[in-house]
Amino acid sequence: MIAYIEPYFLDNESDAASVLNVTGKSSDGVSESLNIQGEILCGGAAADIAGKDFGGMNCVKPLAVVRPVGSEDIAGAVRAALSSDKLTVAARGNGHSINGQSMAEGGLVVDMRSTAENHFEVGHYGGTAFVDVSGGALWENVLKRCVSEYGLAPRSWTDYLGLTVGGTLSNAGVSGQAFRYGPQTSNVTELDVVTGNGDVVTCSEMENSELFFSVLGGLGQFGIITRARVLLQPAPDMVRWIRIVYAEFDEFTRDAEWLVSQKDESSFDYVEGFVFVNGDDPVNGWPTVPLHPDQDFDPTRLPQSSGSVLYCLELALHYRDSDSNSSVDKRMERLLGRLRFDEGLRFEVDLPYVDFLLRVKRSEEIAKVNGTWETPHPWLNLFVSKRDIGDFEQKVFKELVKNGVGGPMLVYPLLRSRWDDRTSVVLPEGEIFYIVALLRFVPPGAKASSVDKLVAQNQEIVQWCVKNGIDFKLYLPHYKSREEWIRHFGNRWSRFVDRKAMFDPMAILSPGQKVFNRAL
Ligand code: FAD
Repeated sequence: MIAYIEPYFLDNESDAASVLNVTGKSSDGVSESLNIQGEILCGGAAADIAGKDFGGMNCVKPLAVVRPVGSEDIAGAVRAALSSDKLTVAARGNGHSINGQSMAEGGLVVDMRSTAENHFEVGHYGGTAFVDVSGGALWENVLKRCVSEYGLAPRSWTDYLGLTVGGTLSNAGVSGQAFRYGPQTSNVTELDVVTGNGDVVTCSEMENSELFFSVLGGLGQFGIITRARVLLQPAPDMVRWIRIVYAEFDEFTRDAEWLVSQKDESSFDYVEGFVFVNGDDPVNGWPTVPLHPDQDFDPTRLPQSSGSVLYCLELALHYRDSDSNSSVDKRMERLLGRLRFDEGLRFEVDLPYVDFLLRVKRSEEIAKVNGTWETPHPWLNLFVSKRDIGDFEQKVFKELVKNGVGGPMLVYPLLRSRWDDRTSVVLPEGEIFYIVALLRFVPPGAKASSVDKLVAQNQEIVQWCVKNGIDFKLYLPHYKSREEWIRHFGNRWSRFVDRKAMFDPMAILSPGQKVFNRAL
C-alpha cells in the first residue's frame, strides 16, 4: 500500500501536489492507497482548508487534507504516515489555534469536522448524566442539542463555542465555570482515541488510564480524540449576567478570590474578570463594560484615585423560569452585598441560558463585519500564580498594555484543586492562579510590521516573566526551541516524553505544536 503512496506523497511531493492540484481532489487511486472511505483533498483545496488558522500568522502547505468517515479512516492515515519515512498527521478541529498548532507542513491534515455527527448519545451512570459526542463536534452544537432535546448541558465551557470538543480537550477548555467544575478536561470520563501507533483505543480513569490522562491537555501529541463522554447537569432556563467595576486591583482580586473559594451553590455560577482602559476609547475603554445599549458607563462615579486601567468582575447567576424575581434578586444581593466594587458602576441583564453561553457569537458577527475576524490575532494566554499576579499587573496591565490590545484583556482566578494533576496540562504552583488572556484584534489594512510589534510585545511579556522569576505557564503554549518546552513542562517534562514514547513513538502527530520532530 505505502509503496503506492510514496511516489505521490513523499519522493516527489511537489509533482504530486501539482498533478493533484488540477482538480483540487485526489484521484481514486490515492484514496485507495490510503485505504480511506472519506474524501482526500490535495493542492489548493487542501491549503484552503488547512493552510491557515485563526491566528493568521502562519501559512503552510499540507500535502493533503483527509476528511475521515470515522476512526478507521483516521487510523488509516496514521498507519500510512507510520509506514513512510517522514509523513506527519495533524488533527484539525476548527483551526482556531493562534500559532499553527493544527497545521502539518507537507503532511496529512485530518479535518475532524467531517466526523462531527458520528456520535450523540445521552446516557446515565450512577445518577450522573453524560453525553457521548464526536471529537470533531462544535461545542455550540453540543450545547444546542443537549438543551433542546434533553434539558441538560455540559458543566464547564469555553467563552466562545465555535471550537471542537477534541481541540479544547487537547488544551484544557477554560471559562467562568472552571472555578467550580474545573476545566473541560476535568469533565470527561471516557474517550475513544486513535494513537500515534495507529491503534483505536477506548480509555478512561479505569481503562487504559495512562492514555486517557496523556491525551487530556496533551496538545494532540498522543492521540486523536474521536469520541468524548462529557458530564452533564440540568440546564437552567435563564441567567442574570452582571458586571461590576473596581478602580483598585487589590480589591478586585480579593473579591474574585473570595467568590471562587465559596462552597458550591454559595457563589455565582460563573466568575470571570477583565481589565479595561480608563477612558472613552470604544474598543478598549468604558463603552466595553455596559451589557445593554440602554446602559451608560458614568465615569463621574469613579474615585479620584483611579488609574490608567480599571477592573471588571463579570458574574452570572443561573435560575429557572419558575423562580420568582424576588428570590433571584435576594440571592444576587446577598452575594453582591459582600463585594467592594464602585457603587454606581454595576450593570446587569437577564437572558436565556443558551444566549448567555453563545454571547461571544455576537462579537464574532461584529468582527466579521468590521474585518477583524480575518486579520491576524497575535494572542497571548498565560496562567499566573496568585503570588505573582500583583507584580504582573503592575508591569503588564499598568505599563505595557495600558492603552489596551484592541480586544478583551481577561484576568480571573482559578483553583488548582479542580484540575487533575494526571493530565498533561501544567500549571503554576499554589491553589489559586489567574488566567490572563490578551486577545488582540488588529484593524484591517494594518501593516505586517505592526503585527510583528504585537508579537514582539508578547515575547517581551514572556521574557519579563522568566527574568523576574514569575511563576507562570503559557496556556495554548507555543515555543520554538526544545529548551523552552523543557522549561514549560518543568518536572513534568520526562513524563511528557515517556508518554510520547508510548503512544506516538515516531512523532507522527500534531507536528504544528513543534514539541517533537518526526522520527526517521
Ligand atoms: P484546533 O486549533 O483545530 O487544534 C488545536 C490543537 O489540538 C492542535 O494541536 C490539533 O492538532 C489538536 N486537535 C484538534 N482536534 C483534535 C482531536 N480531536 N484530538 C486530538 N487533538 C486534536 N480556550 C479556552 O480554554 N477558553 C476560551 O474561552 C477560549 N476562547 C477562545 C475564543 C476564540 C475566538 C478562539 C479563536 C480561541 C479560544 N480558545 C479558548 C482557545 C481554544 O480553546 C483553542 O485554540 C482550541 O485548540 C481551539 O479548538 P479547535 O477545535 O479550533 O482546535
